Amino acid sequence: MGEASFANLLSVDDARARVLESVEPLATEKVSLRDALGLVNAAEIRAPHPLPRFDNSAMDGYAVAAADTSGAGEFSPVELEIVGEVRAGDSDDVVVVVPGAAARIMTGAPLPAGSDAIVMVEVTEEKDGKVLVKSAVEKGLHVRPAGDDVDAGEILVGEGLELGPGELALLGSMGVTPVQVRWGPRVALLITGDELVDPEDEPGPGQIRDSNQLALLALLEQAGARPVLSERVPDRREAVVEAFSRAAKAADLVVSSGGVAVGRYDFVKDVIEELGHIELWRVAMQPGKPVVLGSVSNVPFLGLPGNPVSVHVGFEQFVRPAIRKMRGCRSLRRPILDATLTETITKRPGRLHFVRVRLSNRDHEWFATPTGSQGSHIQSSLVDCHGVARFGREEAKLTEGQRVTVEIWRLP
Ligand code: AMP
Ligand code: MG
Repeated sequence: MGEASFANLLSVDDARARVLESVEPLATEKVSLRDALGLVNAAEIRAPHPLPRFDNSAMDGYAVAAADTSGAGEFSPVELEIVGEVRAGDSDDVVVVVPGAAARIMTGAPLPAGSDAIVMVEVTEEKDGKVLVKSAVEKGLHVRPAGDDVDAGEILVGEGLELGPGELALLGSMGVTPVQVRWGPRVALLITGDELVDPEDEPGPGQIRDSNQLALLALLEQAGARPVLSERVPDRREAVVEAFSRAAKAADLVVSSGGVAVGRYDFVKDVIEELGHIELWRVAMQPGKPVVLGSVSNVPFLGLPGNPVSVHVGFEQFVRPAIRKMRGCRSLRRPILDATLTETITKRPGRLHFVRVRLSNRDHEWFATPTGSQGSHIQSSLVDCHGVARFGREEAKLTEGQRVTVEIWRLP
């Protein structure tokens, strides 16, 4: 294809917008907190009560009335009578701290009536039922007041956030279980290509090992999707029809690799037109141009090219954002950072290039180094790769030292 024809191709951003229009957030479900790791919170959650619920001690020490310690110091200790002990789990009425008295208290125990500060063990000495306080304390010292963490009614976890260990712990503290979440979409994966054998098998003449299946299963899992079917499909029309029909019945989203270019045995586009429709084909990008958006029996479909690097780049640009929208995620795209390019690179104008880069940080500045040869079949360019630098559609040269925008796939 000549360069001129690139002008008609849809831009990556427009194509992504079309992809995102074609999918909707899935239905929500209730799950217990124990099963919610990695799922997406589907409705804003507010605090049913303050946290902590009651004033409690931040230290092991003595609960006192701060006023009783006034003037206390290393050489002028104040002596207080020990009237009892409060442990974590006790109620706040096991002892009353009357004037001139103190109660032993453990971290997390409720502040007993009459006390308003904690003297930590380290500045005291206990003898004959009395405690010598060697430091004056102010009201509230080492006390964690009720509501210090969260006030009743405050937002605990916003809609569209993924539930990680921190979110689960806070919701657990507040007794918010079950939670309303969205699971990842069920994805059916179809890998086309007569040349493919399993990674465990020895390829015959002209055969290659199927790496896209492994890559896509891993990418799907990391994106929070649930692969429910993953099959290799021969390059025969009937086989492709049969596989896509079955895939659409099993899944919320169908994803395929290969068979979307213009070869005699690239049946995927034809079959999609027969079973559903094609919304767009081909995007002004490199690698990954012959990407297909469509639907099979009303199930959204994304067809990636077969070249392994195109699979990764196409997945990142289109499939992952679509999956995140279906999961109800607040953010759909990868984060970006600006980095200094460490070598000069060139290309022909016409398509946006996604240059695989390795990131490094020196003196608080990020540097991006291309991971070697950038062909769409160069799988080694994906090893120890942290993301892609965008090499603009109309640009022909990026110069060493120039700032580039990098979409971060992972941090070094
Ligand atoms: P296609 O898009 O089907 O024309 O495939 C483009 C290129 O990607 C060809 O060189 C294929 O051999 C290669 N390829 C296709 N599928 C896979 C796969 N599953 N794993 C590794 N390489 C593949
Ligand atoms: Mg093929």
